[in-house]
Amino acid sequence: MLPTITLAPGREKSVLRRHPWIFSKAVAKEDNSIPPGSVVKVNAADCSFLALGIYSPKSQIRVRLLSFNEQDNIDAAFVQQRIENACELRQRLIARGNDGVRLVASEGDYLPGLIVDKYNEFLVIAISSWAAESLREHIIQALKKLYPDCSIYERSDSKSRLKEGLKARCGVIAGKEPDDIIYVKENGLIYLPIDIKNGHKTGGYLDQRQSRYKAYTLSKGARVLNCFSYTGGFGLWALKGGAARVENVDVSELALTHAKDGVVFNHLDPGRCRFLKKDVFAYLRQQTAKGEKYDLVILDPPKFAESAANLKQACRGYQDINRLGLSLVAKGGRLLTFSCSGLMEPTLFQKICADAALDAGVEAQVISTLRQDEDHVVSLPCPESFYLKGLVIAVR
Ligand code: SAH
Repeated sequence: MLPTITLAPGREKSVLRRHPWIFSKAVAKEDNSIPPGSVVKVNAADCSFLALGIYSPKSQIRVRLLSFNEQDNIDAAFVQQRIENACELRQRLIARGNDGVRLVASEGDYLPGLIVDKYNEFLVIAISSWAAESLREHIIQALKKLYPDCSIYERSDSKSRLKEGLKARCGVIAGKEPDDIIYVKENGLIYLPIDIKNGHKTGGYLDQRQSRYKAYTLSKGARVLNCFSYTGGFGLWALKGGAARVENVDVSELALTHAKDGVVFNHLDPGRCRFLKKDVFAYLRQQTAKGEKYDLVILDPPKFAESAANLKQACRGYQDINRLGLSLVAKGGRLLTFSCSGLMEPTLFQKICADAALDAGVEAQVISTLRQDEDHVVSLPCPESFYLKGLVIAVR
């Protein structure tokens, strides 16, 4: 018999809509002796069955739901099927010349807290919740079966993991240790530098694949400013697209070193780019004061809004960089601006950019919208999994 979590009256609504999270506030009765990582049955206040999920007593998200079918067994075959379905969904993206793909995108693939990224013959797993932690062995077995020739590396070291009371775990699980830098083909044209062992997240930002391609289409003859460049992905595409010059700005020395190597690896012209280890806020101010202009400015900052409590402060940060970014765009140029904060709704982000344009004294129009690429699948009932949005703004 599975332990049972009973919800407070009225709290079954989100579960009936298949939202995968049960917050602590929604729970009426819980037995404190249930060990973390246990499969639990979630019942409505009237004791009717709602879902099966995995219990995490330290997290605000007490239960992450895995199934709405009481007959399901959360076992190796269950996990194998979910991972197979997820991998199948990525086949078209791989066929279009992508050797770096997110195979499993957490809630988007009904495996909350599990990320699996494939970089050539390396699978990198990142586990951020008890839900995925308790299924770890099944996950590894499923990946070995599906990709017998791949090595598996773990990068379970996110902040959200600590909130669940889990310790960081990184290292080789199967096969060989990755080199310090590897290159994955992106959209058949560019080799993106990936640092599995010491880079951010699993080593690279695959979610920006289509937006980097957008930069490629906007770069012919352009003076490009690539802010928060990381390993220089946008800059590589801009060079490939014929940019006159590219400035990559980031605070991370290691990321900039990889960015430089990436230019050489792709047979692009290092003479046309600069790598600046600087704080973006300060650099934008400095360039604005100098009256510099660029034809394409890219702003891809880290997550400013970590929680609802600091959303207001995050908005000020977004407004600040967008005001400065817009004032640096030459007439007829473009700003590519992003927010990867799940808490920042697209309409709020647009409003912030509108205010930023007013403050910068420029006339600006949205000519297209951007989003996380298709392998970063969004769970339909869980809008929180749609986190990365962007705007292409024309300045006149
Ligand atoms: N655009 C990148 C991903 C950006 S991730 C890509 O396509 O791959 C965000 C980056 O911002 C990180 O590399 C981080 O080192 C950098 N960063 C964070 N705060 C910064 C700051 N204040 N100034 C400059 N870089 C910063």
